[in-house]
Amino acid sequence: MRAESLETVRRVLCVFPRYTSAFGTFEHAYPLTDGVQAFMPPQGLLLIAAYLPENWPVRFIDENIRPATAEDFEWAEAVLVSGMHIQRQQMNDICCRAHAHDLPVAIGGPSVSACPDYYPSFDYIHIGELGDATDELIAHLARDPSRPKQQVVLETVERLEMTRFPIPAYELAELKRYFLGSIQYSSGCPYQCEFCDIPALYGRNPRLKTPQQITAELDRLLACGIRGSVYFVDDNFIGNRKAALELLPHLVEWQKRTGYVLRLSCEATLNIAKRPEILAGMREAFFSTIFCGIETPDPVALKAMHKDHNMMVPIMEAIRTINEHGMEVVSGIILGLDTDKPETGQHLLEFIEASQIPLLTINLLQALPKTPLWDRLKRENRLIEDDEGRESNVDFHLPYDDVVKTWRACMSSAYEPRKLLDRYEYQIRNTYSNQLKRPASPQRASWQNIRLGLIMLRNIFWKVGIRGDYKFQFWKFALRRLARGEIEFFISSIVVAHHLIMFARAASGGRQNASNYSMRLREASIPAE
Ligand code: SF4
Repeated sequence: MRAESLETVRRVLCVFPRYTSAFGTFEHAYPLTDGVQAFMPPQGLLLIAAYLPENWPVRFIDENIRPATAEDFEWAEAVLVSGMHIQRQQMNDICCRAHAHDLPVAIGGPSVSACPDYYPSFDYIHIGELGDATDELIAHLARDPSRPKQQVVLETVERLEMTRFPIPAYELAELKRYFLGSIQYSSGCPYQCEFCDIPALYGRNPRLKTPQQITAELDRLLACGIRGSVYFVDDNFIGNRKAALELLPHLVEWQKRTGYVLRLSCEATLNIAKRPEILAGMREAFFSTIFCGIETPDPVALKAMHKDHNMMVPIMEAIRTINEHGMEVVSGIILGLDTDKPETGQHLLEFIEASQIPLLTINLLQALPKTPLWDRLKRENRLIEDDEGRESNVDFHLPYDDVVKTWRACMSSAYEPRKLLDRYEYQIRNTYSNQLKRPASPQRASWQNIRLGLIMLRNIFWKVGIRGDYKFQFWKFALRRLARGEIEFFISSIVVAHHLIMFARAASGGRQNASNYSMRLREASIPAE
């Protein structure tokens, strides 16, 4: 559903802020593609865009692709912004630019919902998910398009059922410019890991869309030009296991109907390994990757952060089980935990070697507002609230410089080209070989797809194979793939590997953030209002 049409018509500009360069944004991979410029289409802002009254014209700008121009602001009567903590400065900058055109600006999304204080300049603050606050915001803008004298704070009490969510306005986004497509099936997570803000923001009882909504969204994504992979952004795909099981046959049917043209991926807890029936369904639906927050291989640390569910199956066994179902594990790792010791970095490298996981997002612990970790550190007087210039807002037990040094050393070693490509070699032999053998389909063999593959091969050979600086390791990997006809695996592995190698070099040289959540900005910072 969408908000009712109103007599008054307002032109709304939805602006998604630029990301600071981060491990998980894959920007070093973009030059190897045919024009990708951003990571994933933002679900929240496109959802709100779809929910606005049907007769309100909406423009959507992702500043990762192009900045909102003076002409965009002149066209608009109101501006909506959404984003995460890491985009805080950029969001405040958008507000400042909109105010230069005397426009009212509203902000919603995860960052403002957790920390309204971060956004004193905005005219409207929307806390929480789509719901009664959204209707109130629309009513305010319909009544009066001028800037209110004081900030208006609107908080959702009645959330709109996800079964009534409209399809996000994918048609407003240039989907071909994104590295991955995105889709959301559920919201919330039943667990309570100490560092995580999801349960406080979205609840512990996952709310769900229907399988029919999901297949309709996938149809829309395809119609709007998405290619390659679609990522389920749910915080935990198996937060409600029964619902995940119910969805999978619909995804299998959808894949059969559309010729298996898309790969699927998701985030889930590692105890998914205890549910072979879910893994089997995911294999049939052609899921190729699962992001698991392994966080640390140390059982004492997992217990301390209340992530005991990671130990329901021995970690290594869980990874192997997922691999046996054709899915690669991507792992989140945290350094700087209270339980860390001087040898933690070495143990992490041993774990990477043993698990053969190619892609691990290794971050320093950051305390997010609305988490039990934040509350505990505050009590212990270990929260560094003015963390500008630091890689984390946590006063670690180990000396700060040692923790950062460990992080840099781990990044440098884990993403040394030979080691990384060896791990991909392992995945191709032991994981991808277990994937569903998809039937040949006209959709996959389309000229468009073949052209895309050729462009990417040209870019990879030229930019990495000829102009790159890890040519020996690259050609060793490439020639094996070519000899075995593993072109698709070659392209997908090398595009990601190249980003990891380039990013890790910058990180170990001190030119990148050690935390995906850190407020510290490496690029020229943008003045906030
Ligand atoms: S399982 Fe994942 S989403 Fe759930 S509380 Fe833990 S870290 Fe957060």
